[in-house]
Amino acid sequence: MISKKAMGISPSPTLSIDSKFKEMKANGEDVVGFGAGEPDFDTPQHIKDAAIAAINAGKTKYTPAAGTLALRKAVADKFKRENGLDYKPSNIVVSNGAKHALVNTFMAILNPGDEVIIPAPYWVSYPEMVKLADGVPVSIQTTEEDGFKVTADEIRAAITDKTKALILNSPSNPTGMVYTREELQAIAEVAVEKNIYVVSDEIYEHLIYEGEHVSIASFNDKIKDLTIVINGVSKTYAMTGWRIGYAAANDEIAKAMANIQSHASSNPNSIAQEAAVAALTGGDEEILRMKRHFQKRRDFMVEMINSIDGVSCSMPHGAFYIMMNISKLKGKELYGTVITSSDDFAELFLKVAKVAVVPGRGFEAEDFVRWSYATSMDNIVEGLERLKKFLSGKYE
Ligand code: PMP
Ligand code: GLU
Repeated sequence: MISKKAMGISPSPTLSIDSKFKEMKANGEDVVGFGAGEPDFDTPQHIKDAAIAAINAGKTKYTPAAGTLALRKAVADKFKRENGLDYKPSNIVVSNGAKHALVNTFMAILNPGDEVIIPAPYWVSYPEMVKLADGVPVSIQTTEEDGFKVTADEIRAAITDKTKALILNSPSNPTGMVYTREELQAIAEVAVEKNIYVVSDEIYEHLIYEGEHVSIASFNDKIKDLTIVINGVSKTYAMTGWRIGYAAANDEIAKAMANIQSHASSNPNSIAQEAAVAALTGGDEEILRMKRHFQKRRDFMVEMINSIDGVSCSMPHGAFYIMMNISKLKGKELYGTVITSSDDFAELFLKVAKVAVVPGRGFEAEDFVRWSYATSMDNIVEGLERLKKFLSGKYE
């Protein structure tokens, strides 16, 4: 008999699609994957070299639970250099990926029944993480026409006396939306006025193709004190498997997070921490190279999708995802199945054309499926050719 809490948590749809895709591939099926948002590039060599050197130097023991001082200093320097934010190493908690940093955050700030506002479409894990910490997720729906953006007024209207926090994710997974400085400033004013925390997930900050990244924490001391900034090395440095993410918060929250982590998991992997220092101090060259590839892929995909009858998409300005609108296909019959939902579409597309995309339901975006373009141009060309053939009913 499992707990009520465990029964209320659904599996990650992004990770389930990815494992289904990997299983089909291992079985020799000719499948193309656009599921999990995971850079296809290898981790840069200087980062791998730092990890090998760490092993040879015997850096294979426990470190402080919140991360080595060297890494927390490198993270604090990064915040100063890139975001104009002053943090001490004691404000930084390094965790097993940004996912773990987010779970620690909700554990540290939520009491049972506290509400957390989440603009939708959102990354699938946010509501489940809030529930894990006994909080109540409250979504605000945004639309494609409004660029998938929530306004300060909409946030104000959603705040109740139970609201404890707001989650922001700019650039966004899954929509690729990027908030402007002015939009963030207006949201920050509401957060300060209503005294609610802002959990700002900035993991895609380096992947912006139009516009600039602004950390909401950087406007003034009041909003900085209320913001927990989440970031990590997974996406920026193609280091998804290394599992290093981090959070920056005020003294009280950072201490609570470090305490929680000291019992739950202790320090993140000592070797990966050494590699993360090399990543954060090694310059931008590799990041820019990967970004150029992502941008080329995005431009190609958006143009192709919009040239195919029955589907469309808007231009995402950041991250590496495209939300394809499938609303015109709903009610239509394809290969003997009437498409009634994003799940129907994704299942049929995988079964018939052997292409894995993530259905929008998990993002609270029922009229969409998500493509990740963190995959090779060859795969992208192949995946879109299959989409065209699939929609014109040409598969057997
Ligand atoms: N936040 C967002 C918005 C993400 O897309 C991801 C991707 N997994 C994460 C956090 C977590 O990243 P990781 O745990 O690999 O650092
Ligand atoms: N965040 C990525 C995605 O949305 C990786 C999978 C996951 O951690 O959910 O695809």
